[in-house]
Amino acid sequence: MDINKLQRENIKNLKPYSTARDEYKGQASVFLDANENSYGSPLFNEEDAAQQNYNRYPDPLQLDLKDAISKIKGVPIENTFLGNGSDEAIDLLYRAFCEPGRDNVIILPPTYGMYEVSAGINNVETRKVNLLPNFQLDLEGIAEAIDVNTKLIFICSPNNPTGNSIIRTDIETILANFNGLVVIDEAYINYAKQKTFIQELTEYPNLVVLQTFSKAWGLAALRLGMAFASRSVIDVFNKVKPPYNINQATQDIALKALQNIEQVNEWIKITVADREQLSKDLAELEIVKKVYPSDANFVLVEVIDAKATYDVLVDQGIIIRDRSKVTLCEGCLRITIGTGKENEILLNALKKI
Ligand code: PMP
Repeated sequence: MDINKLQRENIKNLKPYSTARDEYKGQASVFLDANENSYGSPLFNEEDAAQQNYNRYPDPLQLDLKDAISKIKGVPIENTFLGNGSDEAIDLLYRAFCEPGRDNVIILPPTYGMYEVSAGINNVETRKVNLLPNFQLDLEGIAEAIDVNTKLIFICSPNNPTGNSIIRTDIETILANFNGLVVIDEAYINYAKQKTFIQELTEYPNLVVLQTFSKAWGLAALRLGMAFASRSVIDVFNKVKPPYNINQATQDIALKALQNIEQVNEWIKITVADREQLSKDLAELEIVKKVYPSDANFVLVEVIDAKATYDVLVDQGIIIRDRSKVTLCEGCLRITIGTGKENEILLNALKKI
């Protein structure tokens, strides 16, 4: 795969913005280069000042944070991009690789909505190849939909909103045969039995793996997403991204959180066990027709009357997601696995319907 051919002509020719801090080498202690406020930030008490100052621009490449992520994931820093949520990486894929009005991408409904929204914003055609009724890939349909202008294929595994993992060998077939980028969105991978694809980066130069701090890591409000890919793809991301796309507070807090992986692993264990229990309990309810097996931190549930069930729960202050109008999800609700207490409240409310 030739990344030069894949990226848009204007991106190939782009001279990226050079930040003040990109332009010197060596040690420095007096920073009069970036028009910051050299006194500090107007924050609380002076003893904490060193920790709470945000008067300096953050590291554009987030090297300390990437180093900590690299130690956990085993992926080198140069193969890692950090975005303002994985949604930023999705948007950058379009902006860097898809020529508006000419190129197209393949998406596999029912799946995560931002692939299509981002395509719309960037005026890029989406070609939809529905998943099969078992929510697996329609490999023939995908092969037929691809043409010379197809730049990206989005595969969400475990998939949102269906919850299942996509069969690994099917993904490998696409990786081995498609000449554009194969984007595997692993937002929910921590809850899955299936292995991540990040170990396959050296095998497939066209692989982009998306992960996020918004799910298992419990940091959705920080907006921090990861993309792992070949160095040439990451270099394009870094060229196109806003210079300071990850703010200093996010970098500091994420670094702290990475030291507490035990807590995250504990929550994953509990959530997976609760998912299995909740799935069993839901399946026994009269209003439930089917609970789909899940590899994520939510379950897709087919009920007799999705709208009515949703409304009854809303009346009691319990919010789930009505997915009944979504392709292949007729009659379905998507329910996030909550705390033990929240799951109990949900079940009790459903039992009374
Ligand atoms: N991918 C999938 C499959 C998701 O479900 C979501 C969020 N619901 C995202 C990506 C977005 O993640 P982030 O918060 O990192 O932008």
